[in-house]
Order: sequence, then C-alpha cells, then structure tokens
Amino acid sequence: MYAFTYQKPKTVAEAAAALAADGDAKVVSGGQTLIPTLKQRLAAPSALVDLGSIEGLAGITVAGDTVTIGAMTKHAAVAHSAEVQGAIPALAALAEGIGDPQVRNRGTIGGSIANHDPAADYPAGCLGLGATIVTSKRELSADDFFTGMFSTALEDDELVTAVRFPKPKRAAYAKFPNPASRYAIVGVFVADTASGIRVAVTGAGGGVFRATELEAALTAKGFAAGSLDGVTVSSDGLNSDIHASAEYRAHLITVMAKRAVAAAG
Ligand SMILES: Cc1cc2nc3c(=O)[nH]c(=O)nc-3n(C[C@H](O)[C@H](O)[C@H](O)COP(=O)(O)OP(=O)(O)OC[C@H]3O[C@@H](n4cnc5c(N)ncnc54)[C@H](O)[C@@H]3O)c2cc1C
Repeated sequence: MYAFTYQKPKTVAEAAAALAADGDAKVVSGGQTLIPTLKQRLAAPSALVDLGSIEGLAGITVAGDTVTIGAMTKHAAVAHSAEVQGAIPALAALAEGIGDPQVRNRGTIGGSIANHDPAADYPAGCLGLGATIVTSKRELSADDFFTGMFSTALEDDELVTAVRFPKPKRAAYAKFPNPASRYAIVGVFVADTASGIRVAVTGAGGGVFRATELEAALTAKGFAAGSLDGVTVSSDGLNSDIHASAEYRAHLITVMAKRAVAAAG
C-alpha cells in the first residue's frame, strides 16, 4: 500500500469538507472494494475518509410506500430486514444473493452503488425500481446516477447518504452468478411500478442499463413470462470474456428476465 492519512469524521458535512479539501481523498465505507484496490496498488488516495462514525448513515425506514436505506447499511441488514422483506421482498432477496456472508456483513449499499461495478447487484435494483439516490448535495434518479462502467454522476466531494426505493406493485431479481465471486454474469431486475414496467440489467454491459425492448414487450403484451417469448436482445456492445460471450449474455438477459417475471407473479 501507499502512505495515506486516515480521517474519521462525525458528520456528513465534515466528510464532504474533507473530500473538498483534498481532491485525492477517497471515502471508505466497508472497504470491500477499496482496500483490495489499495493493496493491489491500483489506487493511491492521499487520504481515506471513513464514514463509519457518522451517526444516521446506517438504517432502514419504511414510510408509506417508500423504503429508505442509509448508505452505510450492510447488505446483510437489508437481506434480514423484516421491513424490506415486507415492502420489497425482491430487494431483500437481491441483498441475500450478494457475495458471501463476509461480504454481506461488511459491504454497504452506498459503497456498492458509488463503485458501480458493472456486475454488481444493487445498481440493477436501484435502476429497476426507479430509486432516488440521496447525496450530500442533491437527489438523483437512478436513471441519471449510473453513467458508465465504474462511474456515476457523483462529484469528487459528494457522497451517497441514502437510497429511497418506491414500493413496486411486484418485482423480482434473477441472477446468473459467477460461481466463484457470486457477481452477476447477467442479473435482471424486473419491476411493475406505478410509473410503468422497468427492466434493469447488470453484468452484461459496461454498467447497468434498462432493457427497453423487454420493457416494451411486457408493457404491450402484459406482465407475464410468455410476453417475452421470441423477444431477443442484441449482443452489440455487451461484455465478452472468459466467463461468457456477448451472444451468451444477450441470450441470458431474456432467460433471466423471464425467470424474474415468473417469480414476481
Ligand atoms: C469476494 C467479493 C465478492 C463480492 N460479490 C458481490 C456480488 O455478488 N454482488 C455485488 O453486487 N457485489 C459483490 N461484491 C461487492 C461488495 O458487495 C461491496 O458492495 C462493494 O465491494 C463495495 O464495498 P463497500 O461498501 O465496502 O465500499 P468501499 O470498498 O468502502 O468503497 C467502494 C468505492 O465506493 C466509494 N464509496 C464508498 N461509500 C461511498 C459513499 N457513501 N459515497 C460515495 N462514495 C462511496 C469509495 O470511495 C470506493 O471508491 C463482492 C465483493 C467481494 C470482495
């Protein structure tokens, strides 16, 4: 590792100020991605700003049809939350399927979406449900937040503080996982929401994206797996690697979408 300073602010404002004061500073939440990155010398931040002592950043609240999850909330807490299981069971199931127990007990929703790994699960849940990302500066729709591979609309001195999920009429997530890491080779989150049917795909491309052809088919023919019969997704621009070709990933998108729709009921 390279040398760096370590700061543990007590408030979001202090954390944001520490980031604004040093353009090379980095936030650390659970460290599940950042610490291995430092160990491999792939990043060399001058300062680590640890969010672990800021009160109120972790926790889950349900008010009316909105589930709000604080940025420092661990995946295990979301998976085991009776409130999330009751309001959006697909989101609890998504969290339960992330990595292994160690990862779920250290990794955070804020770190996951800020990192925007193109195979991560939460970005699909956020985009599929039409979530709102709350930051230290503003509120962003998930459609505007995820901008590309490992990139988001976050500015250098901006941190995620919470994610607000509207309760859908029905939703489900189906993942074809990498058997080693459990990251998605392809993961598809489908949701029948007050503002329409949404289908979000992770693992297949250079970041999470909406499968508009599948949304159109489900909207036109009804929210049923059979509505996706014969609907194909183009492999243009999809990932091709040792785990799966672009063509295979394109095929998996429809297969996983059908499974998710069937599971959503
Ligand atoms: C072995 C292994 C298996 C995994 N499997 C899966 C999987 O199956 N599915 C999946 O989705 N994920 C998986 N993950 C990722 C894991 O779930 C974490 O969510 C992810 O690594 C982020 O970790 P973290 O929350 O500890 O963030 P950190 O590592 O602390 O931070 C990650 C990045 O986000 C930034 N950041 C952190 N918090 C914030 C914030 N609040 N505001 C702004 N920026 C912030 C940091 O500066 C850093 O750049 C896996 C990780 C490991 C190590």
